[in-house]
Amino acid sequence: MISDQTCILFHEYTNEINYIEFISGTGCASYVGFQGGAQSLYFGRACNVGNLCHELMHALGLHHEHTRPDRDQYVTIQWDNVVPGKEGNFKVKKGDTQDLPYDYDSIMHYGTYYFSSNRNPTIGSKKSGVQIGQRNHLSPLDITRLNKLYQCGV
Ligand SMILES: [Zn+2]
Repeated sequence: MISDQTCILFHEYTNEINYIEFISGTGCASYVGFQGGAQSLYFGRACNVGNLCHELMHALGLHHEHTRPDRDQYVTIQWDNVVPGKEGNFKVKKGDTQDLPYDYDSIMHYGTYYFSSNRNPTIGSKKSGVQIGQRNHLSPLDITRLNKLYQCGV
């Protein structure tokens, strides 16, 4: 999904000092950006190819779309519905939006009910009729974002 539409290529580990190590575990998780050495990426049984793509994009340096500094113009976080202790997943992160518009369709955006404590929404869109939280494809802006960040020259 990533290599088809960007200049980013992946190959199997040989003897690199810095690399991603896939760990089979319970969930899907990744650090954001380069850590150095053997960088763990957790890939559990419940994770599909879209989840794996999402985690790889974290490793490539991207935060969640709904934590952009300008997100409050586009979504409303319903803090009262968030599982206690999981609020950090909804906090705004410092980062570079690369002058690209907010992307509801991003594979890096959470869905409406992520980390809900009570089956009520944790993220509401300020624009009607948009879907959030898809894990099926890279959105056009996801592709642009990676190509800009990795200077793919497109
Ligand atoms: Zn994530």
